[in-house]
Order: sequence, then C-alpha cells, then structure tokens
Amino acid sequence: MRLVLLGPPGAGKGTQAQRLVDKHGIVQLSTGDMLRAAIRAGTPVGQRAKDIMARGDLVPDDVVVSIVSERMDQPDARNGFVLDGFPRTVAQAEALDRLLDEKGQKLDAVVELKVDEGILLKRIGTRLGEMQARGETARPDDNPASFKIRLDAYRAQTAPLVDYYGRKGKLKSVDGMAGIDAVSRSIDGALAGASG
Ligand code: ADP
Repeated sequence: MRLVLLGPPGAGKGTQAQRLVDKHGIVQLSTGDMLRAAIRAGTPVGQRAKDIMARGDLVPDDVVVSIVSERMDQPDARNGFVLDGFPRTVAQAEALDRLLDEKGQKLDAVVELKVDEGILLKRIGTRLGEMQARGETARPDDNPASFKIRLDAYRAQTAPLVDYYGRKGKLKSVDGMAGIDAVSRSIDGALAGASG
C-alpha cells in the first residue's frame, strides 16, 4: 500500500500515519521528521533546512525530493509507505510521480484530512501545553508566528494538490475534525474502495 496524507499543519497527519503503519505493515515517511533528524545530525541538508524550518517556510523542493527518493529505496519501504508532509508543492508532486515511475510503483490513494483552521490554532496550543507538561522542548516552529506562516504556506502551495490528485482520481477526503478513532475509521473506509 502506497499512500499520501494531505492536510494542514496540526491536522493529525502524524497520528493517522502511525496507525496506518501498524495496520498495513508499511513505513511512515515524514519529511518533517527526516529534516529534523538531519538538523540534529548536523548534516549539510540539516544546515540548509534549520532556519527555514524554524520560520515555518518550506525547504527547497530539490532537498526534500532527494531525501524522499533515498528513503523510498530502503528495504523496509518495499512493502509500502505512507508519505506524511510530502509532497507539499505541485513541483514535489510531479517529482513524486517521476520517482514512482522510475521505481515501477504507483500510489494507491491520497487521503486528505479536512479540518477547520480556527480549531487547528487551538489544537496547536493544546499540543504545546501538553509537551510542556511532559517537560519536552517544543519544536522551534511550534509558536504562533511560525504556525501562521506554515498555514499560509499550506494554503498557497499545498492546497492545490487537492485538485492535482482529484484530477488523477486518487483523492479520498475525510473529515479530520472527528476524534482520532473516528478519523481512522473514515480513512479505513475510504481505502477499502481504493485500488492502485
Ligand atoms: P507540520 O505538518 O506540522 O507543519 P512537518 O513536520 O511536516 O510539520 O514540517 C515541518 C517543517 O518542515 C515545514 O514547515 C517545512 O519547513 C519543512 N518541511 C517538511 N516537509 C517538507 C516538504 N515536503 N517540503 C518543504 N519543506 C518541508
């Protein structure tokens, strides 16, 4: 099973991706996580991405496309994957199409989590409070100013992918505002009808 999860920051992509991993025995490919790992490791990619990410802007397409391509070639991704946070621009979606073609693979579906942006702002506040309560350090981009830039980037650069995948007949939209279990059930239902 090869999936893309689409939705604005804070929509619950990471949570649902983890559930899809457990259910289908696939791997989660989160470009956000990969970039944060690169920053921690101090690699050249990490050094390029660090300040851009803290602001909430998008890292250049060529950087993320190459890390995704490498990751897709790892043995554990052979059985399938759920992309979380990628593609985020039309150029990235086109690059993904080319990568899949080259690798002889196809996407089964693109799942869009539809959410209300006003409620997202509350969610991000709650996530921050919970992390602080656990004594964890918040992500440098989990602050209101960067979050607004992330939402703007989503609207301007990522939301057009809803049409892009709609035209290809790959799009499955689910209500992302329900509880975590209810959202998972909607995704399962949407995928039951999906075929490569
Ligand atoms: P969220 O979905 O909550 O915004 P992510 O962890 O997916 O969080 O992304 C955090 C940041 O990482 C983004 O704001 C951006 O700077 C960078 N990033 C992640 N994925 C991509 C991507 N596909 N293209 C460009 N930048 C990305």
